[in-house]
Amino acid sequence: MNYHLVLTRKCNLNCYYCHGGEETGPKTEIQYSIDDLTAFLERDDDIQLMLYGGEPTLRVPLIIDLMNRFPKARFMLQTNALLLDNIPAQYVKRFHSILVSIDGREDITDGYRSEGVYKKVIKNVKWLRDIGYEGDIVARMAVSEQSDIHKDVRYLLDLSEPNFDNVHWQLNVFWDAENNWEDFDKWVTNIYNPGISLLVDEWIEKMKIGIVEGIVPFLPLMHTLITGEPSEMRCGSGRDTFAIHVDGKIGVCPISPDWEFSIIGDIWRSDPADLKNSMSVDEPCPSCEDYGLCGGRCLFANKQKLWGEEGFDKVCQVSKHLFDSLKKQLPVVRNLLDSGIISIEDFNYPEFNNGCEIVP
Ligand code: SF4
Ligand code: SF4
Repeated sequence: MNYHLVLTRKCNLNCYYCHGGEETGPKTEIQYSIDDLTAFLERDDDIQLMLYGGEPTLRVPLIIDLMNRFPKARFMLQTNALLLDNIPAQYVKRFHSILVSIDGREDITDGYRSEGVYKKVIKNVKWLRDIGYEGDIVARMAVSEQSDIHKDVRYLLDLSEPNFDNVHWQLNVFWDAENNWEDFDKWVTNIYNPGISLLVDEWIEKMKIGIVEGIVPFLPLMHTLITGEPSEMRCGSGRDTFAIHVDGKIGVCPISPDWEFSIIGDIWRSDPADLKNSMSVDEPCPSCEDYGLCGGRCLFANKQKLWGEEGFDKVCQVSKHLFDSLKKQLPVVRNLLDSGIISIEDFNYPEFNNGCEIVP
């Protein structure tokens, strides 16, 4: 199974949409022994460890210890990349995928994250390329009101030296809407939805010359449309992907240690086999016409609805615009597949759950 391992709740940034850097004190650090964690994980014969924080690269000795203890495990990393080059090269190369937080153009990234962040991130992604890292480097954007989805995704897709293998984004729609958005509806109507339509059109144009660009939300959604195989919760939460929090409790999702519903066990008393398929989405998702495509978007949002029913539905409408934009292009994609210009394998992403939630 897949485990988000929260290595610390501290962060060396304090981004506009997160405020994680404000967390201090002993409760931000791991309070279990690594031997106890090892005893728990040894009961699972196929482990994938997705290192998460706070900022996981604040705990490089722990990363090294885990990689030494679990030589057969698959590792993933989600990082703001500021300290990425503190991980020794032979260890960093063991990550199957590295999700690097970057929000698009320099002024957008620095505006949300802090002055100078963009340049440091780019420097460290270049370092990854220079040391011969061969895994998947994903530009992982947080998208909020200053973002222009078309311009910022396009910018990251077109970057070279260093380039990203894939680009993924999440919308800033988890926490308090009042303090995060001046006018969400206007931004969706004027910037986001038209930008998505344009990105899909450009994606299809490139396909006509045999290039399937790594736009993460588009790839598996189109794969589902082509194959017709319905998807469940795409981030894996509650199904086969769990979070081990710093206090040793096990939750369905890494971002929700403080919500009681999400805690389903701990490393001392739980058995990995009992966790599997322990939580799934409630209505309105199972009755939604797009459930098989969407998978329910986000287990946390489905259960907690911090934006209320109306806000939840607003985000669904945003998802449905994306789904409809892709559905419209399905006949074109089928033609390109039939003529051999592209292959179904081009849409088979991610190879393993790498922490990309898929539906923004
Ligand atoms: S579009 Fe909304 S209601 Fe439908 S499955 Fe996705 S999250 Fe659930
Ligand atoms: S998509 Fe939602 S449930 Fe899944 S990992 Fe992200 S916050 Fe958690």
